Amino acid sequence: MSDTTKRPSMLAAMFTMKCPSCRRSRVFVNKSILPFEQMVVLKDECEVCGQQLKSEKNNGGGINYALTMILFFLNLCWYWPIFGLSYKDNSVYYYLATSITVVLVAQPYLMRLSRMIYLYLYVSFGDSRRVEVKE
Ligand SMILES: [Zn+2]
Repeated sequence: MSDTTKRPSMLAAMFTMKCPSCRRSRVFVNKSILPFEQMVVLKDECEVCGQQLKSEKNNGGGINYALTMILFFLNLCWYWPIFGLSYKDNSVYYYLATSITVVLVAQPYLMRLSRMIYLYLYVSFGDSRRVEVKE
């Protein structure tokens, strides 16, 4: 008996970019986001369980848009109490500038995360036949 019967946490696996089926192996070709051209390149299949990871539909673009909007809102949550927002001065523009900067810096990670969410929507734990799951 190997430890593949244990079920790693889904959220932890998703945020650390692990395979949706076995939650053990990384799904991206490169560990870091550099080089940028290969940032969101997925492996063909999982090294541990053989789960197929690539598909033509797998782009996660819509999810990326949603995540970007969520990040704008989260920026508002910390910016407003700290710096204050008012229509009487330029603070709204400062907020937008700050927010856009944060979103741009976080974008590589958001793009990867949206791919991960997409994968996790279509592949559930133990989908690949090589891993035996005991519920
Ligand atoms: Zn796997």
